[in-house]
Amino acid sequence: MARLTLLDWPVLRQLRGADPTGRGSAVTSARTRSTVPRTSTADGMAESICPYCAVGCSQRIFHQDGKVIQIEGNPESPVSRGRLCPKGAASEQLANSYLRQTTVRYRRPYATEWEDLDLDTAMDMIADRFIEARRKHWEDEDEQGRSLRRAMGIASLGGATIDNEENYLIKKFFTAAGAIQIENQARI
Ligand code: SF4
Repeated sequence: MARLTLLDWPVLRQLRGADPTGRGSAVTSARTRSTVPRTSTADGMAESICPYCAVGCSQRIFHQDGKVIQIEGNPESPVSRGRLCPKGAASEQLANSYLRQTTVRYRRPYATEWEDLDLDTAMDMIADRFIEARRKHWEDEDEQGRSLRRAMGIASLGGATIDNEENYLIKKFFTAAGAIQIENQARI
């Protein structure tokens, strides 16, 4: 740290410099002057939407070496105008938390431990169960012969991190399969 002299005294800086009211450069410490934004070393920035709730605040996601390093509000957004609530402002932790699961985890019936599954195996298991449940619980018509054409054994329950386009596809897919219980938190 640089050695301070009498001329660095804020009152003298205030009287000698261009900040006579002492509300700017005259009272800014060397440490504050040397402070840079944590985004200053970013390789780039991508705009996105906060994954948490239906407000749909816009985010600026700064990255470096292929990793998210900071997420901030996007002032270009007509929805949020640069603001994020505390949850949205902390969403960098969603990307970088050491608790984040990055593999498919599966606990077999009656097992006491979880195990990793590769994604293809997990997807095949889900598809098999979906088809089987649809086949088993398909209702073609009611007891009076009126057309039902529905599958009561399958349903979709989404979450806040599913966006508008994904919801559109999920709704189309499940409705086409005959499901009528399809719920999700709305996204903009
Ligand atoms: S920043 Fe907060 S209010 Fe905005 S979308 Fe995210 S969770 Fe919702």
